[in-house]
Amino acid sequence: MRYYSTNHNAPEATLEKAIIKGLAEDRGLYMPETIRRLPKSFFENIDAYSFHEIAFQVASAFFGDDIESEALSQIVKQTLNFDCPIVEVENNIFALELFHGPTLAFKDVGARFMARALQYYISKATKQHTGKGMNVLVATSGDTGAAVANGFWGVEGIHVFVLYPKGKVSKIQESQFTTLKNNITALEVDGVFDDCQSLVKTAFMDEELNSRIKITSANSINVARFLPQAFYYFHAYAQLRKLNRITADMNELVFCTPSGNFGNITAGLFGQQMGLPVKRFIAANNANDVFFNYLTSGIYQPQPSIQTIANAMDVGNPSNFVRIKELFKGSWSEIKKHVDGIAYTDDMIKDTIRRCYNENKYILDPHGACGFQALKDKLAQNEVGIFLETAHPAKFKKTIDDILGRDIPIPQRLQNFMQGAKQSIEIKNDYSTLRQILIEKAI
Ligand SMILES: *Cc1c(COP(=O)(O)O)cnc(C)c1O
Repeated sequence: MRYYSTNHNAPEATLEKAIIKGLAEDRGLYMPETIRRLPKSFFENIDAYSFHEIAFQVASAFFGDDIESEALSQIVKQTLNFDCPIVEVENNIFALELFHGPTLAFKDVGARFMARALQYYISKATKQHTGKGMNVLVATSGDTGAAVANGFWGVEGIHVFVLYPKGKVSKIQESQFTTLKNNITALEVDGVFDDCQSLVKTAFMDEELNSRIKITSANSINVARFLPQAFYYFHAYAQLRKLNRITADMNELVFCTPSGNFGNITAGLFGQQMGLPVKRFIAANNANDVFFNYLTSGIYQPQPSIQTIANAMDVGNPSNFVRIKELFKGSWSEIKKHVDGIAYTDDMIKDTIRRCYNENKYILDPHGACGFQALKDKLAQNEVGIFLETAHPAKFKKTIDDILGRDIPIPQRLQNFMQGAKQSIEIKNDYSTLRQILIEKAI
């Protein structure tokens, strides 16, 4: 499979290049040149397939030309060592729980897949005696660093450097990438998130450094992080079929995805183009309503991001918007036909969390709450809705405790992180210090 740039001004790339480079030379995002439809028989029998079998079929459509079947099956198996079950929260409204992985959020899926795909290419290069290890640099305001560090943890031939702003990441988040050690180095930067990001960018542009060590990013726009998110849309559909809540000849399924950079929902739209019978998608947003405004006005107007309690969606210029435009050839009316949108204020999110708990005894996280409420507001009779519960509520324990006036339990996995000893290197917001550390510690 070849990957082209959404800016149409860069050479097409192989999968290997698209994974290692992340971004095309013209700063566009990579898109697969074709999206293969899966056979009708696959959808007819999907309720009989395991999550692994489903994910492998989907993965093969994207990556099967480039990664041998046996290796791809292994990568999928290592990615999905946890389930993504659906739970009926209220009549006809299901939560697709994506928080049963290592860091209790959906980004685990993409991060784990990318780690193994990158390892596949490194070990191939090593066999040809041309390779050395790969170093992954990632700047984080919390969740991405956790997912990437855990996804790459213990993966041979790769060392990860997580840069995060000192004192600006919650203790729970910090513990998820500072207690791992091994091939994960946490760098605590005396600055804000933007400083971390510009340090990483400077390193990528430092030619002398790049001639000495191999560095890459694990950014969420990377095709190996983004496309595997299609897996669980198919799996959710299969589960509804198994429950007889939808039949093979029905087209009444609505997916609602709490969205920030719009990678997750775009993966769902790819699934639909592969033949997954989805009637429409809803993008649920917090006060960062750039996409919602685009749907109503036809004008895409990026904004500075606004801080909310659903902070993983505090994005004022969603990077995957260009992929959605590309999928529908830039047509506003086509986009509106496939994707609906809605946006909620913090007060509305809090109300939703409170009411859903009182009425259903289901604890939503602030992101999933936007998804749940969007289905309550938009689902028509006869339709079945699935919202993506993108993180476990305990990741936002203080917010949820305050809203519900309770002390919600912390899952064992999260407690384990919090009990681990923190290990990080404090650095000034200064590139020469970072450079020195990279040269010393890079593999
Ligand atoms: C990253 C994230 C989102 C937003 O996902 P996108 O793919 O950026 O749209 C939503 N919820 C949670 C919990 C997240 O971590």
